[in-house]
Amino acid sequence: MLFCIRDDDTSFFTTPDDLEAAYGEVCQWGPVSLAVVPFHRAGTSKGVPEKYRGRWSVHPLHENRGLVAYLRQGVAAGRYEVMLHGYYHDEPDGHWEFQHGDDLTRRILDGRKYLEDLLGAAIRMFVPPRNAIGEQGLRAIVQGGLHLGGVAGIRAGWPRASFRSWNLWLQLRRWRRGGGAGVPWVLDLGDHREIAGNPVTPVSLRQVNDASFTAALAVDGVFCAATHYWELAVPSVHPDQPTVGEQLHQLIARARKHPGVSWRSVGDVVSSPAAPRLGAAAR
Ligand SMILES: [Zn+2]
Repeated sequence: MLFCIRDDDTSFFTTPDDLEAAYGEVCQWGPVSLAVVPFHRAGTSKGVPEKYRGRWSVHPLHENRGLVAYLRQGVAAGRYEVMLHGYYHDEPDGHWEFQHGDDLTRRILDGRKYLEDLLGAAIRMFVPPRNAIGEQGLRAIVQGGLHLGGVAGIRAGWPRASFRSWNLWLQLRRWRRGGGAGVPWVLDLGDHREIAGNPVTPVSLRQVNDASFTAALAVDGVFCAATHYWELAVPSVHPDQPTVGEQLHQLIARARKHPGVSWRSVGDVVSSPAAPRLGAAAR
């Protein structure tokens, strides 16, 4: 089974200390894939410090030189992978950035090039802000040659006229109806691939992620833990659940302990021929 960690919202507002506290030790055991915002607009996201929230000013990553140096070093050492996480992330009119818009392909191409040049990283993955994607957003990702962190599905962008889309939809429905937990495969849409994130957040339940991990082990599939560095110390909303960070560390401990688990970056998992794919055979 392949295991990976996805962390969203690294941006101008992130300090090297934030990431070091979250992953300094973790990324000595295996890589952490950071979804990075190239030009964060200071809107309503919780990843934006409170004093900036609602200003709607734009903050390019390169203006945080300490972070750029830290990320360059981490990428060169193989501790971090960089993924593209939107362009501005927050939109003043309240719509989610990659659900719709006529400028999305340009944002993907520019954002990707900017981060690749700035951080010395090869970018293979796109993670949509707020996990919200739509038909136009998905088309832009494909045109930019990237894969999706998350699952779009028929409602949010898989082409409805395609046999492959409906075949995948059917296979996933069968899996869920049979009691299957999570989505323990890389989904192959032909022109791009998708990998589901298993949320590790204040509302997530440890037993749900444990069940998805167990299912991934059973099918020799994939498990991607999806979290936020700025949320790791936050207690769960459920009184009986550990903090976000503790939940993440329990999953990491399980991955490290099991001899059948191989820990990779998200991009490596999605690109790996060894990763079991759903939909690959459909035409
Ligand atoms: Zn985000």
